[in-house]
Amino acid sequence: MTSSAELIELSERRSAHNYHPLPVVIHEAEGAWVTDVDGKRYLDCLSGYSSLNFGHRNEKIIQAAQDQLQRLTLTSRAFYHDQFAQFCAGLGDLTGKDLILPMNTGAEAVETAIKVARKWGYDVKGVEPDRANIIVMENNFHGRTTTIVSFSTDPDAHDGFGPYTPGFRVVPYGSAEAIRAAVDANTVAVLVEPIQGEAGVLVPPDGYLSDVRDLCTAEGILMIADEIQSGLGRTGQTFACDHEGVVPDVYVLGKALGGGVVPVSAIAANRDVLGVIHPGQHGSTFGGNPLACAVANAVIEILATGEFQARAAKLGEVLHTRLRELVGKGVVEVRGRGLWAGVDVDPDLATGRELSKALMKRGVLAKDTHGSTIRLAPPIVVREDDLVWAIDQLADAVYEFRNKG
Ligand SMILES: *Cc1c(COP(=O)(O)O)cnc(C)c1O
Repeated sequence: MTSSAELIELSERRSAHNYHPLPVVIHEAEGAWVTDVDGKRYLDCLSGYSSLNFGHRNEKIIQAAQDQLQRLTLTSRAFYHDQFAQFCAGLGDLTGKDLILPMNTGAEAVETAIKVARKWGYDVKGVEPDRANIIVMENNFHGRTTTIVSFSTDPDAHDGFGPYTPGFRVVPYGSAEAIRAAVDANTVAVLVEPIQGEAGVLVPPDGYLSDVRDLCTAEGILMIADEIQSGLGRTGQTFACDHEGVVPDVYVLGKALGGGVVPVSAIAANRDVLGVIHPGQHGSTFGGNPLACAVANAVIEILATGEFQARAAKLGEVLHTRLRELVGKGVVEVRGRGLWAGVDVDPDLATGRELSKALMKRGVLAKDTHGSTIRLAPPIVVREDDLVWAIDQLADAVYEFRNKG
């Protein structure tokens, strides 16, 4: 077998450098654990940025994929197929919405929400042609397409990719007042992450989401919740909006919807909103394909039991209780909800990257984001003793950095 050093060298030599991976070459995985080409095991505390909420190779999801592979994989939306109705009805029931529009990646679902909001603005709200604006948040992350990076405030994501798509207004995250001040007659929507994941698992102040909901209702604009990373069990509820009893007009879903098997994304909204889209106005060759729907149907069935949401809440208590004990001991701040945490290590001790590498040596895979933050989001199937062990590794790694300093 080719060595991991050779595989890394060839990958670096022949791939565009749009990522900076940790030096580990993964070969197989099960549940919360992955194994590299040398046979070393690691606890996966990233879960494909929450794409693997139900674990690597979740038995029920893999079975659904295998069954579907034996029968039918792709039709295009030119025809119906026998997994589609259940997908739309099931996801509609899970979100409490009338209609589903399936796509593939998260960014495509966000693009879909933007297009729907604009069309709704012109067709229903009566906004002047081509003048619609959407209010978005500082430090947002909604994907990588040209339109989405147009309103990113991260220089790496944004700079050098103009000319930019107009029609977005950026306001500080966490302030409903800032949104209110930015609304005008042409505003069609507010696009918000209920928790900002890529920004470092930033949880907004209590009451923010319900204030945004009330404001959108009062102003007659759409609340679009990007639950691609926060949704589907991660925070201890089906959706992060549930923590404030908030129901957005549009849910944007992705990542874990594909069960860690295939990309599946979708938006969910009621008929008065999503009904503005007619044949020919939006679509995707692969969106809503039979394999994707079969996998997502297994995911939806898993979520319908509430078992994973409860488990994320319970393990989240363990995670946050233990992490809070590290604050002041090399850790500056800990944020998050459910089985999802952003940990700011003292920047004088180590960068997030250095800490991630130290964790990797100790058998824990986590990824840094923005300077000295690492995020922890193990698959929800993780065993409690494994979770505690991983946090101990973090504590020990930080302790080592302190002793070095
Ligand atoms: C990952 C993510 C996206 C983009 O999803 P892709 O599948 O990578 O295109 C959008 N919004 C949020 C909140 C995300 O975490």
